[in-house]
Amino acid sequence: QINERESMFLVSNFAKDFFHSTMLNTNQGKAIGLSYFKERGFRDETIKKFDLGYCLDEWDHFTNAAISKGYQLKYLESTGLTIVKDNKQFDRFKGRVMFPIHSMSGRILGFGGRILTADKKAAKYLNSPESDIYHKSKILYGIYQAKKEIAKQDNCFLVEGYTDVISFHQSGIENVVASSGTALTADQIRLISRLTKNITVLFDGDAAGIRASIRGIDLILEQGMNVKVVQFPDGEDPDSFAKSHSDIELKEFLNTAAQDFINFKVSLLLEDTQNDPVKKAGLIRDIVTSISKIPDAIQREVYVQECSQIMEISERILFSELAQLIAKTN
Ligand code: ATP
Ligand code: MN
Ligand code: MN
Ligand code: MN
Repeated sequence: QINERESMFLVSNFAKDFFHSTMLNTNQGKAIGLSYFKERGFRDETIKKFDLGYCLDEWDHFTNAAISKGYQLKYLESTGLTIVKDNKQFDRFKGRVMFPIHSMSGRILGFGGRILTADKKAAKYLNSPESDIYHKSKILYGIYQAKKEIAKQDNCFLVEGYTDVISFHQSGIENVVASSGTALTADQIRLISRLTKNITVLFDGDAAGIRASIRGIDLILEQGMNVKVVQFPDGEDPDSFAKSHSDIELKEFLNTAAQDFINFKVSLLLEDTQNDPVKKAGLIRDIVTSISKIPDAIQREVYVQECSQIMEISERILFSELAQLIAKTN
């Protein structure tokens, strides 16, 4: 018996195949979609591995094809693939290159679509709307293609964007997933925790990326997981960095630039702290607040010791501050 969600999965799977073959087998698909990915340096096997595709720049090319194959409009609408307005039907992703989003087990939950023109009015990326099968706070782009390698490496790289994930695969790094622009959630971290307890956060080297890293750290610690952070040079993201460096240079950079969260916060904030005691106290409190999120007492102690050494402050003081914070949150 086929239920509603099952029907939504079926139509989503059809859409994935349809967008992929539209890109490879139509003139517009090849000239616009495929050449876009080629210009970004994506190879044929990568395009296949991620089921990348293209939705023609016509009003209802996809919707008509789906309906003529027997898919019901009801499910085209509930998955957001088709927008129905005034009794007319439109393809939601018209004129965009398509990134299908897989579940851990490989089912198609939804799509991200990137615009190709520098149209300032339209969003660069458009995603499937929330539905019975697409919950953006619970999805991680790339988890299906990464799960084996995450378990094998016992580490997961966490990036912001679709293209960061894809570029890393091309550079030989497959244990990588993207939060896809949404603020990281506890559900997303729990998904990773089924595969590894170690996350390395690799957000963009801009103000927004740094802010997101800081927020992500506490959330990861709260889940009882270990977190490291790699800061990319200003204006770079994992995709652009991977493109301008060799595979070996990229791996070397990830190894040497990875910091634990204490060193990351210290390196971010110590510059303008100088010897100002008030600012230094603020930084220490910030670090202790992160430590207080760690559920395991032994691990907390290890980080207190590290913080004590780096910040040149007694463990006794740190523990008493920590005790207050923990008392407050319980
Ligand atoms: P590209 O390299 O293709 O320009 P990017 O992945 O580097 O894209 P960012 O601007 O760094 O793009 O955004 C990171 C991620 O955030 C994107 O991959 C996408 O998942 C999401 N995102 C970006 N812009 C939007 C938007 N306007 N609406 C929804 N999600 C978005
Ligand atoms: Mn960014
Ligand atoms: Mn980016
Ligand atoms: Mn980018």
